[in-house]
Amino acid sequence: MRVAIVGLGIIGASTARSLALAGAHVTVFERTAPGAGTTGTSFAWINSHKKNPLAYHELNVAGISEHEALAQDGGDWFFRTGNLEWARGAGMESLAADVDGLRGRGYPVEWITAERAGELVPDLRMPPGVPDVAWYPKEGHVLPVALLARLWGEARDLGAELRCPAQVTGVTDESAGARVTLASGATERFDAVVLAAGRWSEPLAASCGLPLPMADPEAAGSASVGLLGYTAPLPARVGRVLTTPELNVRPDGGGRLVVQGLDLDADADPAHVPPADGEYARELCARLRALVDGTEGARLESLRVGQRSMPADGKTVAGFSATGSVYALATHSGITLGPLLGRLAAQEIVSRRTSPLLAGFRPERFAGVDKESLAPLAPARFAGQQ
Ligand SMILES: Cc1cc2nc3c(=O)[nH]c(=O)nc-3n(C[C@H](O)[C@H](O)[C@H](O)COP(=O)(O)OP(=O)(O)OC[C@H]3O[C@@H](n4cnc5c(N)ncnc54)[C@H](O)[C@@H]3O)c2cc1C
Repeated sequence: MRVAIVGLGIIGASTARSLALAGAHVTVFERTAPGAGTTGTSFAWINSHKKNPLAYHELNVAGISEHEALAQDGGDWFFRTGNLEWARGAGMESLAADVDGLRGRGYPVEWITAERAGELVPDLRMPPGVPDVAWYPKEGHVLPVALLARLWGEARDLGAELRCPAQVTGVTDESAGARVTLASGATERFDAVVLAAGRWSEPLAASCGLPLPMADPEAAGSASVGLLGYTAPLPARVGRVLTTPELNVRPDGGGRLVVQGLDLDADADPAHVPPADGEYARELCARLRALVDGTEGARLESLRVGQRSMPADGKTVAGFSATGSVYALATHSGITLGPLLGRLAAQEIVSRRTSPLLAGFRPERFAGVDKESLAPLAPARFAGQQ
C-alpha cells in the first residue's frame, strides 16, 4: 500500500512511523522542514487537564500511556517528571473543582504541602500563602524535536521517504486512491493520503471536499496564539513541570527552561514577535527569578509566538473522507496525542479496523456546519488547557 502524508510535524512523523511499521510504503511531503510548524514551538506538557467531554479526556489519558509505552525501550525525549500546580485567590476554588473532577475520573492527582513541593523541586521558591499544591505524578514533558527525531528516524529506517521542500497545493479524492498536486505542478497518485498539515489543514482538506474548519492561527490574543520564552542554560534544579498563576515552566534540556505566562498571551501577535530582550522577555525572566532559585541573571535566548493547530471546536479531528482515500488528522494537544493518534490512524488506514477511541472525533461532525456558527474558543489563559 502506498500512502502519502502531507506535513512532517509530530502528527505526520508519528503516522509515518506506524504506517511503515504496518508495512506501508510511505512518502512524506513537507513544505519547509521537519518540525518547522507548531511542533517546534510548544510547551509540550503531557497531560489531560480540562480536556472535556469525557471522550476527549480519555483520548488524552490514552495519549499519556502511549508515551510511556513508546519510551519503554529508552529515549531522550520523554520525561515523566510529574507536574506541580497551585492557584491563588479566586483561582483556588476552580483548581479544587478541577482536582475533584479529575479524581472522579480516576486521574492520578493528590494534594501535597508546600514543604513537600519544595522537596520535589529543590530550587522552588514557594510563594507565601499557598496552602496546598496539586501534584500530578504521571504527567511530564517532552522535548518535541527529539520525539520527532525518534518517530521520523524509525519511519525512515523502515523505508519512508521525505520530499522536502515540497508544497502540496491540493489533494484530489479519486475512487480507490487519491492524487497529490504539488506547487511545481507535478501530481502523484497514492492508495491513501493523510493530511497532517497542522494549522494549515483547512484549505488542503477543502481541496478534496473534507470539512475541516480550523481556528484562525493568526488572530492576535486568540485561543490559537501563545508566547513561549526559551532561556539560556541556568544552574537551577527544576526538573519538573510547574503550572502556576504567574508562570508555567518546563525543563528543555541542558539547563534551559521553557517559560510561559498565560496572562501575557492577551497581546501575543504572530505578526509582531516581541524581541528576546524586550519588555515581555524581562517580565517572564522577573517571574522566573521570583519562582526559582539559581535563575538570577536569567535571559531568554528566544521568545516565540506559538500558533496552535486548533480544529474550530477545539477537539481532535481523525477520520476518512467519504470515499475512504483521504484521512484527516488535526489536533491541539498534539504533543500529548501524537504517538497515539499516529498509531490509531495507521491501524484504520492499513487494516480498516476502526478505533472506538476515535469515534467521537470524526470529520463528519463538521459536514454542513457554517464555521461562523461555531462558538469562538476560549484562549488558554481562560480555558487553562494546553
Ligand atoms: C504555545 C503552545 C503551547 C502548547 N502546549 C502544548 C502542551 O503543553 N501539550 C501538548 O500536548 N500540546 C501543546 N501544544 C500543541 C502542540 O504543539 C501541537 O498540537 C502539535 O505540535 C501539532 O503538530 P502537527 O504535526 O499537527 O502540526 P505542525 O507541527 O504544525 O506540522 C505541520 C507540518 O505541515 C507542514 N505543511 C503545512 N502545509 C503543508 C503543505 N501544503 N504541503 C506540505 N507541507 C505542509 C508544515 O510545514 C509543518 O511542518 C502547544 C502549542 C502551542 C502553540
